[in-house]
Amino acid sequence: MTEKNKKLIAGNWKMNGVQAALKEIEQIAAKVGDYADKGTFLICPPATLLAGARAVAGDALHIGAQDCHSATSGAFTGDISAQMIADLGGSFVIVGHSERREGHNESNEAVKAKAEAALEQGIKPIICCGETLEQREKGEAIGFVTQQIADSTPDRLSKDGEIAIAYEPIWAIGTGKTASADDVAEMHMALRKTLVDKFGDRGHTIEILYGGSVKPENANTLLHTQDVDGALVGGASLKAESFLGIVAAL
Ligand code: PGA
Repeated sequence: MTEKNKKLIAGNWKMNGVQAALKEIEQIAAKVGDYADKGTFLICPPATLLAGARAVAGDALHIGAQDCHSATSGAFTGDISAQMIADLGGSFVIVGHSERREGHNESNEAVKAKAEAALEQGIKPIICCGETLEQREKGEAIGFVTQQIADSTPDRLSKDGEIAIAYEPIWAIGTGKTASADDVAEMHMALRKTLVDKFGDRGHTIEILYGGSVKPENANTLLHTQDVDGALVGGASLKAESFLGIVAAL
């Protein structure tokens, strides 16, 4: 779905946006086509806006969801399945975001099951990982995050670039703090090794995104850091102007 020589710029709207916000998606969609040779672009609005977003997104912008259940259907009040996301034209789903791991007690095993459910529906999962500040200060970040990814990714992949990873240090999410380029490069290199150990050469085809307070002012540095294949953007993806400011840094 995504060519590895292009960067993936993904917006995670979290629990933000009512129908009036679709105009931001329309504005993003109108512009990202200009950067089609450099990037693949995605907005993940709340589930309530998936259909509306798909209707205004055009061909240049992918639409995805922020979570899915591991089952296709059934007695799971409040949940949505990967099949439902695909049915609305969604082509990506974020799984294992730290806000879900923390707020909904999602284990690596649960995240892996969700990623596998997405693959079954032909949807690309963006599997998130990241350490707490305490873990970083204790020198445990790399060991913890690489284990998260070893355990949260599907056992097998059937094609290149079938999944993406997002490294989001928890202390950098929504705080205005970003990891240093050196720390990002070190973590992404460790994650690449984990992916190649697990998937062989196919591990090289998996995009590793950075997330955590990415904005137009720091996008140039972060997107051009070694082994960074794109960005997962929260707050700065809510407005077309700031999302497009990040895109312009490609
Ligand atoms: P942020 O969120 O860009 O607002 O820090 C990133 C994320 O949680 O995906």
